[in-house]
Amino acid sequence: MENIVIIGNGIAGVTAARHIRKLSDKKITIVSAETDYFFSRTALMYVYMGHMRWTDIKPYEDWFWRKNRLELKKAYVERIDTDAKSLYFSEGGTINYDKLIIATGSVTNTFGWEGLELDGVQGLVSKQDLDELEKNAANKVACPSAVIVGGGLIGVEMAEMLRTRGIAVTMLVRENAFWTNVLPNGEAEMISRHIESHGVNLRHSTNLDKILADDHGKVRAISIKEIEEEIPCKVVGITTGVKPNIPFLKDSGIETDKGVLVNRSLETNIKDVYAIGDCAQQREPIGNRPPVEAVWYTGRMMGEALAQTICGNTFDYNPGHWFNSAKFFDIEYQTYGWVFPEERKKDYEAHFHWKHDDDTKCITIAYHKDNQKFLGINTFGIRLRHEMMDRWLTEERGVNYVMEYLRDANFDPEFYDRYEPEIVNQFNAEFNTNIRPKRRSWKRMLGVRS
Ligand SMILES: Cc1cc2nc3c(=O)[nH]c(=O)nc-3n(C[C@H](O)[C@H](O)[C@H](O)COP(=O)(O)OP(=O)(O)OC[C@H]3O[C@@H](n4cnc5c(N)ncnc54)[C@H](O)[C@@H]3O)c2cc1C
Repeated sequence: MENIVIIGNGIAGVTAARHIRKLSDKKITIVSAETDYFFSRTALMYVYMGHMRWTDIKPYEDWFWRKNRLELKKAYVERIDTDAKSLYFSEGGTINYDKLIIATGSVTNTFGWEGLELDGVQGLVSKQDLDELEKNAANKVACPSAVIVGGGLIGVEMAEMLRTRGIAVTMLVRENAFWTNVLPNGEAEMISRHIESHGVNLRHSTNLDKILADDHGKVRAISIKEIEEEIPCKVVGITTGVKPNIPFLKDSGIETDKGVLVNRSLETNIKDVYAIGDCAQQREPIGNRPPVEAVWYTGRMMGEALAQTICGNTFDYNPGHWFNSAKFFDIEYQTYGWVFPEERKKDYEAHFHWKHDDDTKCITIAYHKDNQKFLGINTFGIRLRHEMMDRWLTEERGVNYVMEYLRDANFDPEFYDRYEPEIVNQFNAEFNTNIRPKRRSWKRMLGVRS
């Protein structure tokens, strides 16, 4: 019986395992050092905030693994011998494989600052990080103030977590507004104001200099680069992005760059060794996608695609149109297609931007300057229907069409206020058009042709 070994029990590795099991009777072993069972990394914050218990963020019951003949081994793989097809564990012992899937995820990205080793300095990626935060920032007496370094998705989550316990939070952001390497300025500035409205001291255009210790090796403050200033704190959250977790592959012969290099079938340079999820790097980037995609749903899609290949039906990873979603305190964010920020905007790309007066809702639509083709949309505080966005991108609709049928795309719950007339009015005024938003049609939404 073919022996499949997967390193990593995150969404990528577990999805591959589940689908291989659906398609075959192969022996499957999942090795992971972090936790006994798979959990939803995206929900870590809700455990600290008390919205969920640890057990609630495990997508499968503990009996699921045995029932599906998925063997779990809790161990850290420190070395791979690809000639002998063996893994070596730091706890001692080895395991052999016929086919190996590397799905080892990400670790916190750091930039060599002085003081990173101090007690109280931490990232927010793993279960161990969550436990650490519970210890370091149990409440505002033990931890009156914290500094978060880096403005991105994880940084804002950490700020929200700490604020729920009344801890004073200062956030250092290198850019002049929140996440400007991803969001156009109008959105970035609105989210900056929203973060500040939650009592976070958001310091734009500010870089960490050093992390300073007290006499016991614990954090006491940080200093910043731009001016002579120390900010006292008990916790320093490092949220300057993540990078593939691959140092253990150093002498394995498996080719790496930022991540493990793979082709579209997710094969590495070594026969029978594959990589998926956050740790994989596409040799040939797919469209506008970054070669390393540290995103939940792409890990799942890679796992599904690879299961097919492993079971004899060679299958390319084909993620379709880009989408993603997140939440910045109270504001939900969705993105479909490509809306580039000013610093990376394509020469053919133009934007239409609308913002509500209450400063908590806005949209940006990107379209092609020459042919008005719809390229992508970002929304904040307004939910969109995924299938509609996917369809309009596939059908290569024009921006006027998107305006006309915008009501079809709205996915806000019943009785929520709707803003399509306001949005379209502004569009008409700016572009000298006379578009009248069509009433919502279930027939159109379901793709029923009349
Ligand atoms: C706080 C947070 C919030 C996030 N929110 C979102 C979100 O809202 N939306 C979104 O799309 N994405 C989000 N992400 C990203 C998303 O969670 C990741 O893209 C996804 O979990 C990666 O899955 P993976 O299977 O590739 O790896 P992981 O889930 O990281 O799993 C890899 C596992 O392999 C283990 N491992 C690594 N090396 C070894 C070794 N040598 N031996 C044994 N085991 C090893 C690791 O310990 C880990 O358990 C978030 C991430 C974080 C940290």
